[in-house]
Amino acid sequence: MIEDKNTSRTQISDLGEFGLIDHLTKNFKIKQKSTNLGIGDDAAVLDFKNKKCVLSTDLLIEGVHFDLSYVPLKHLGYKAVIVNLSDIYAMNATATQVTISIAVSNRFPLEALEELYAGIDTAAKLYNIDVVGGDTTSSTTGLIISVTAIGYAKEDDLVYRSGAKDNDLLVVTGDLGAAYMGLQVLEREKQVFKVNPNSQPDLDRYTYLIERQLKPEARKDIPELLKALEVMPTSMIDISDGLSSEVIHLCKQSKVGVSLFEEKIPLDPAVISICEEFKLNSTTVALSGGEDYELLFTIKQEDYPKIKANPNLTIIGHMTDEKSGIGLVTRANEKIELKAQGWNPINE
Ligand code: ADP
Ligand code: MG
Repeated sequence: MIEDKNTSRTQISDLGEFGLIDHLTKNFKIKQKSTNLGIGDDAAVLDFKNKKCVLSTDLLIEGVHFDLSYVPLKHLGYKAVIVNLSDIYAMNATATQVTISIAVSNRFPLEALEELYAGIDTAAKLYNIDVVGGDTTSSTTGLIISVTAIGYAKEDDLVYRSGAKDNDLLVVTGDLGAAYMGLQVLEREKQVFKVNPNSQPDLDRYTYLIERQLKPEARKDIPELLKALEVMPTSMIDISDGLSSEVIHLCKQSKVGVSLFEEKIPLDPAVISICEEFKLNSTTVALSGGEDYELLFTIKQEDYPKIKANPNLTIIGHMTDEKSGIGLVTRANEKIELKAQGWNPINE
């Protein structure tokens, strides 16, 4: 995990708005050919030649989307970028730039913002994207952070939520439910800490889960992998709210139904054991937990041989005609209607 190191406190007002922007962004280096001009003028200038430009934005609010009592600012900066890149990859596109807008109260010293930007910089380097602008303003209460991600794709490579067809296979990357269980562990430790601030939690067993919650990764590798395998998905979406709500989006927007097989849903062994500890059903957690940032997509049946041996990809079902409905086939071989419980007040 990334560690917070800064302990000194410098008032933001000592620098002024422009000094602050300059201080936070001076180390960003331009890496992408499509960035003609980055930070410093009234607007950035990008050039995608004959490619389509894709763009997605997210707004994160303290107390609603994150809790700074257990989310280190460096992780928050990292995650804020990652969740936006995930949306670009879900279009089967290449992410190239982000803008970062923040509203901060005087509760935050400069060092806190340095941590936030260190996380942003780490993500930008790892995912090879440029930070090309943003906005900085004050807030009377908490921290607000908005990230816009920009990328490109050839028109024919773009994959929408609406392209799935009857009989297509439903495929998911990675494994599901770990980020949600990481959040449950962190919430529990926060309660324990309130009662006994001297408690030293042993979180080693939960490392994978906590990392999935605090330091998620976006599946940059998947559009590249699919291209290498010569598989063109018919529809795609990223899993931010939970498998069931994303499956429902694909079905509704593609006007098809689905048979999703409970026994096929990929779960890490750590998720299975922590679900036992918390007395939660691991299928429910995978379906409704959210924040996995894996990709969910459909492919034509004929592409099955190209993906079947890949450890990153799991076939979890197949699409049906619309009137067959959106169904989960349980381990007991019963088909039940899938409901979107993908929304949860803790990790909306
Ligand atoms: P304006 O007054 O036109 O909004 P600003 O002074 O806010 O311009 O911004 C100056 C430059 O710094 C612009 O390139 C802007 O995109 C960039 N910028 C402002 N705030 C941030 C931020 N928080 N992170 C990254 N870039 C920023
Ligand atoms: Mg501005």
